[in-house]
Amino acid sequence: MQLIKPGLTKLTDALDIAFAEVPVIAPTEDRPISDCYGAVLRQDVVAKVSVPSVDNSAMDGYALRHADLAGIDGPVSVVGVSLAGHPYDGTLPKGAAIRIATGAAIPDGADCVIIQENVTANADESVIEIAADVIARTSLHQNIRWQGEDIKAGDTVLSAGAILRPQDIAIAAGQGCGTLSVARALKVAVFSTGDELAIPGDPLPPGGIYDSNRFAMIGMLRSIGCDVTDLGLLADDFDVLQGALADAAKSHDVIMTSGGVSVGKADLLKPVVESLGEITAWKLAIKPGKPLMRGKIGDCLVVGLPGNPVSVLVSGLLYVMPLLRHAMGADRSRLAPTRIPVRSGFDFKRMTGRREWLRARLVQNDDGEFEAIAFASTSSGMLSSMVWAEGLIEVPEDCGQVSKGDQVLYLPLHGLQ
Ligand code: AMP
Ligand code: MG
Repeated sequence: MQLIKPGLTKLTDALDIAFAEVPVIAPTEDRPISDCYGAVLRQDVVAKVSVPSVDNSAMDGYALRHADLAGIDGPVSVVGVSLAGHPYDGTLPKGAAIRIATGAAIPDGADCVIIQENVTANADESVIEIAADVIARTSLHQNIRWQGEDIKAGDTVLSAGAILRPQDIAIAAGQGCGTLSVARALKVAVFSTGDELAIPGDPLPPGGIYDSNRFAMIGMLRSIGCDVTDLGLLADDFDVLQGALADAAKSHDVIMTSGGVSVGKADLLKPVVESLGEITAWKLAIKPGKPLMRGKIGDCLVVGLPGNPVSVLVSGLLYVMPLLRHAMGADRSRLAPTRIPVRSGFDFKRMTGRREWLRARLVQNDDGEFEAIAFASTSSGMLSSMVWAEGLIEVPEDCGQVSKGDQVLYLPLHGLQ
């Protein structure tokens, strides 16, 4: 029996093909570092300075010469101070100490720091007493952070293709970068299609439903740093759709739509894109989200998602967002979702042939172990399942049954959105 139905493409193949066919669309721009959160880095960042830049103290205390400690049998003179940004610029005399603050440079001659809590200082801190047991357990180099122990000048601290997190931006700032070369935000036009749809805020006609997908799409796109144009609702009408897509393609890098990509009479997206450009992929072996379409109009990438709200979110998070991040230059290795092996706390049976994601949560069972529970319904129309979910359970193409206790893969949603 053939595993994948004819006409459907496995998600991994579909992603391989899409990554190969869709170029990096977004040009680079230099952006102030404070605006770079979430952006795709388009340069390597090579350290210009070592961090720490000098040997410095990890603690507030007193810097001493370790070889002097054995000879101490009374008060020790404190002959100077080294503060962060204000180093002591002499050499530590034999048998003496220097008051030192966290982050301050270790004075010449000193090679250990005793923390202030372990000494007794007189009122003006000109003299300290160090108990014999403190001396005995003070080791050479104690509490010293070495020049370059974090970063050495010349190290590559960030590589092109990274999606910038707070710590990445911080390490670049620590190298004195005021701006970074990042991908310009992709310009994405978004609209929902369907005659049944009404705009939230407007009255709901009989039999109508409010358009919710547009807001899911806009949210996903903004979370990956796209510059979104909300083009609202379009009717299931060939000419209306053709006009709107042709227009949007002129001024956007990407068009993202929901609805109208299946095989019904009102499913016009595919012929419309064919009339203006070409369809490059259609129908994935996934559930939910099967009729997903990819195409292009001129240089504008088009992704048409099916109308069911869960399909929009699942295929958006697992196919479209990685593809758009790739189009901004993100390294592919950073785009695979986190998949955590966990025990199933549920039984599930199904037809094989598609990769399926069940809406899930992790809960602690009676033995204190975490296991996944799944939402009662697998319907791709039930948006409440995505609101309930904290993650997705991935059921592989060839798996027809999951039993309680089986190992399954859990994809945390917070890693995807
Ligand atoms: P379609 O893919 O256009 O056949 O739509 C599939 C299902 O999703 C239908 O039940 C639609 O009513 C629903 N749907 C389509 N578009 C939206 C939308 N923008 N918001 C909420 N539901 C939608
Ligand atoms: Mg429709």
